[in-house]
Amino acid sequence: DALNMILDVKGTIRVFCRVRSFLVRDRRKFNEPILTELEKIAVRSAGVKKEFGFDKVFNQTASQENVFVEVEPILRSALDGHNVCVLAYGQTGTGKTFTMDGTNDQPGIVPRALEEIFHQASLDNSSSLSFSMSMLEVYMGNLKDLLAPKPVCRAYEPTIRCNLNIQTDAKGQVEIEGLTDVQIPDVTKAQWWYNKGKRVRSTSWTNVNEASSRSHWWFHISSLTRITIFRHGDALEAKREVSKLWMVDLGGSERLLKTGATGQTLDEGRAINLSLSALADVIAALRRKRGHVPYRNSKLTQILKDSLGYGSKVLMLVHVSPCDEDIGETICSLSFAKRAR
Ligand code: ADP
Ligand code: MG
Repeated sequence: DALNMILDVKGTIRVFCRVRSFLVRDRRKFNEPILTELEKIAVRSAGVKKEFGFDKVFNQTASQENVFVEVEPILRSALDGHNVCVLAYGQTGTGKTFTMDGTNDQPGIVPRALEEIFHQASLDNSSSLSFSMSMLEVYMGNLKDLLAPKPVCRAYEPTIRCNLNIQTDAKGQVEIEGLTDVQIPDVTKAQWWYNKGKRVRSTSWTNVNEASSRSHWWFHISSLTRITIFRHGDALEAKREVSKLWMVDLGGSERLLKTGATGQTLDEGRAINLSLSALADVIAALRRKRGHVPYRNSKLTQILKDSLGYGSKVLMLVHVSPCDEDIGETICSLSFAKRAR
């Protein structure tokens, strides 16, 4: 059985790549450096062409809908009892937040996922599903609870709600001590909490400058509880399954040392880069089916431990810029993703 679980790993980690569409501010060159196919992306840099393979590649023309259609089956496995983790990775400005959150006109994965889980639950007659959610942010190793009744770390101050403990229970399930978990009976309420969490996130960093905002991850989790009632002879039996759905907008992956960052920004950059490399190490270990998986090296991997391992589904969405001037970072991100894949 353990062997089957391990053999299953290959199917459980998927890596998609999305190339951001051109923005007005982009300086477009005549030769665009990126060519995409359905499952391949080719990058030209200094006359050398490099190719990277993915489970799926979305080019500049892909809509939010196009992306969601591919993500949906993975989200659904959360309803089937798997822990699921969707991670947006990439350089700042490549569209991570656009993909995960989106805009009012073009909603991203999170708002669509909220609708989808309630829709699926309404179709399911054999069992009853209930949902709850939490939102948290990690900043330089501190955890902040975005849905706490009295949240508000006004500026960045590690108050109680900013420093939650991560624990693992006997079954290996990760629990974040004291993290607010709100019941969401319907999609309207879910969206209400989601917007509330986003507001807390955006207003609580008043003294942190724009450049630093790259370093805030925020996480969103829905815990899905499925109760199935079986008839067992004359008796009714209930089976309770809980699964987690993580949707994570990771901190920007760019190499800060190169951009001349100093002080606070540099520290944040180091903190992020350490976590991202810890994440890559975990995924690489799962891929290689090696016994030891180094979860303990960062808060990020500790939190995601029970959702990155065997039996769970992981989707990494790697974001890259379409521009010539970002080609160095683009190659770094694609190489990172290749390590995960
Ligand atoms: P990140 O979160 O990676 O720093 P953002 O999601 O903030 O990047 O994207 C930067 C800008 O580009 C935003 O204004 C966003 O709306 C826009 N953008 C990103 N991806 C797309 C896309 N695929 N189509 C249209 N606009 C996009
Ligand atoms: Mg962002």
